[in-house]
Amino acid sequence: MAQFDTKIYIVDKSVDNVDIYAHLQEAARWIQEGEVVAFPTETVYGLGADATHSEAVRKIYAAKGRPSDNPLIVHIAQLDQLQDVAYAVPDKARKLMEAFWPGPITFILPAKAGLAPEVTAGLETVGVRMPDHPIARALIEAANTPIAAPSANRSGRPSPTTAQHVWEDLQGRIPLILDGGETGVGVESTVLDVTLDPPVILRPGGVSQEELQAMIGEVRLDPGLQDQSQPARAPGMKYRHYAPHAPLYLIEGKGDEAVEKMRAAIMEQVNTGKRVGVLTVDEESSLLADLPVTCLVRCGSRNHLEEVAHQLFHGLRQFDAVSVDIILSRTFPRQGIGLAIMNRLHKAAGGRYYQHKNQ
Ligand code: AMP
Ligand code: MG
Repeated sequence: MAQFDTKIYIVDKSVDNVDIYAHLQEAARWIQEGEVVAFPTETVYGLGADATHSEAVRKIYAAKGRPSDNPLIVHIAQLDQLQDVAYAVPDKARKLMEAFWPGPITFILPAKAGLAPEVTAGLETVGVRMPDHPIARALIEAANTPIAAPSANRSGRPSPTTAQHVWEDLQGRIPLILDGGETGVGVESTVLDVTLDPPVILRPGGVSQEELQAMIGEVRLDPGLQDQSQPARAPGMKYRHYAPHAPLYLIEGKGDEAVEKMRAAIMEQVNTGKRVGVLTVDEESSLLADLPVTCLVRCGSRNHLEEVAHQLFHGLRQFDAVSVDIILSRTFPRQGIGLAIMNRLHKAAGGRYYQHKNQ
């Protein structure tokens, strides 16, 4: 794999004296020349390449260390680009596109010839999304091609929500990172298979099942999302993902009971000499403050799950900056964006729940 002296260009309107236009032109040139560029979207940072160019798309897999059977999402800037990448768009999908695009939802549709086969990992379907971020869309326009882009992290790591996260994972492996500041939603797009009726959520994300159902009626969840013994229909969902370096365990329970369980687990681990990391919420952190926790990460209020989603991946990455032996995390209600939060935490934990020794 080629080595690069990775550059970071600030493309954030709120920062003075940055020539966003010139930076975008250079990024677009790299894409047109068959290289990959990291860029901000409203969900997480993406690692983009020309979706019609096989060699370019292969560089995405190489930079990330991504398994070659895990297809990429194709990003478009305008609705009329959809006809270049997919056909047979069902009415329900059209309705959802009108309601939620540009935005954090990816539609699985029959793929058109013309895309690099590596994009779809050999499947007959393609995932398509129109991102709601001015830099992402301006880059697609300037490159004048649909851009294939997975999250811009090394495979298996928490997705990047800042340019710094991308740098940590990919510096030296890619030529350029466009730094647009923190991403908004903080978890990836919802992946919805609209080749089935009723449509099926393959990955919960920025648009909730409840929001989709309010628009088109019944929307199912892929059984593989609830039951680990069932194969996942999104190839990417079968891999360990989002994981910080230390093993992570989930602690379930309601209110005070969950806090008591967390306190007991922390002390059990500390008493065996472990350095413990804890992922919790603002309201509960003071109830743990008297314990010898090495790294206590708060990811917002338990009453604002959007805030938790926004901070989740940054929170998980914070444990890597200090060395902890074990991470304990609270769980969240599986409603609204909570379903996406729990999907990511469950994966980060490899499905493990903490077992108390005295039980
Ligand atoms: P990422 O780009 O890393 O956020 O991951 C994209 C997700 O979408 C992965 O879970 C993929 O497996 C899934 N995906 C992309 N294209 C398809 C497709 N054609 N069929 C099913 N799942 C897909
Ligand atoms: Mg990813």
